Amino acid sequence: MTSVDALLAELAPIGRAASGGYRRFAWTREDAALREWFTGAARDRGLDVVTDRAGNLWAWTADPDAAVAAGRPGLVLGSHLDSVPDGGAFDGPLGVASAFAALDAVRATGAEPARPLGIACFGDEEGARFGVACAGSKLLTGALDPDRGRGLTDGGGTTMAEAMAAAGLDVDSVGRDEETLRRVGAFVELHVEQGRLLSASGGPGVAVGVASSIVAHGRWRLDLRGRADHAGTTRLEDRDDPMLALATVITAARAAAERRGGRAVATVGKVLVQPNGVNAIPSQVTAWLDARGPAPDDVRALVAEVGGAARVEPVEESWIPPTVFDEDLRDRLALVLAGADGVPAPVLPTGAGHDAGILAAAGIPTGMLFVRNPTGVSHSPAEHAEPADCAAGVAALARVVQALA
Ligand SMILES: [Zn+2]
Repeated sequence: MTSVDALLAELAPIGRAASGGYRRFAWTREDAALREWFTGAARDRGLDVVTDRAGNLWAWTADPDAAVAAGRPGLVLGSHLDSVPDGGAFDGPLGVASAFAALDAVRATGAEPARPLGIACFGDEEGARFGVACAGSKLLTGALDPDRGRGLTDGGGTTMAEAMAAAGLDVDSVGRDEETLRRVGAFVELHVEQGRLLSASGGPGVAVGVASSIVAHGRWRLDLRGRADHAGTTRLEDRDDPMLALATVITAARAAAERRGGRAVATVGKVLVQPNGVNAIPSQVTAWLDARGPAPDDVRALVAEVGGAARVEPVEESWIPPTVFDEDLRDRLALVLAGADGVPAPVLPTGAGHDAGILAAAGIPTGMLFVRNPTGVSHSPAEHAEPADCAAGVAALARVVQALA
């Protein structure tokens, strides 16, 4: 039986940068090392590992197809192992490591789940390399068209198809995978909380909560074109400087979100400047806008306002509608995780996208558990969860397995 801390420690060196943050992008050498770790952890526990048509990994305690035939498809836990640029150690890996640790904890009681238990590792959840969030789960459910997925390119011009092929995946068969989806009777993803609802003073004062919903979330690219010229000799009135449009985009995004008073957030977190020289007026600036909120129309209106302010047409690269998790499963999870006082676990919404949201949108009964994050910081090397809270997350997953499987 391995603790979740020990499992996370095995992962710790993979893709770690000097900052202490992680660079674990899809279909890279680091990704291959993470997949190898997953396969090893599964084999150590006697689980069979299969790769689905989208390149996601599934480890099973028993034959999932026999369970489908018997009308009792499996319970699946898991999350993802990839990261954003300079990401933290918990976003994703905590859910995968906790799933293995929870299986160990259940088996340590002498029990073996009656239903097959699956542990999933979704590929390319963050979309850090090819720009589409939850690409692995979206390809699996068909929410991302396989031709569009294969044709996505990274910053170096490599297509997703080329990167997948280099990693040994059968690129021609990428697409919606009915056989895999049929095996998933229910999916429960444990994740570090990306916010402070659990840790806020006056909050529920417990380490684990249950997700209610995920807000709508999109990514847009803004191509701001100008004319390259000399930073010293070009008169101000003769310039066509796209960096000024970028400034408009950034301030307009902030103002548009503020006007919505907590109903939306908008972020410019990635910018490419060409030619990116100190003494050159740029020829082009490409900026990416991330916008989220509970009301899809409101989020789209915000993006249109930003485009209007900078006189540019935002190009939608990714869109995930709002997700409300299965209410029966949500209520059941809250009751299964009730405290000794009988009070159900707290139920909370999130502004972060997850593979669980993609599976829920595909009609699979899906739930999420959040583990308390003392600062709320995520997508940063400062992301943290206390060891005792991580252990509480494993205990919660083990209770879920005992109740549902
Ligand atoms: Zn995540």
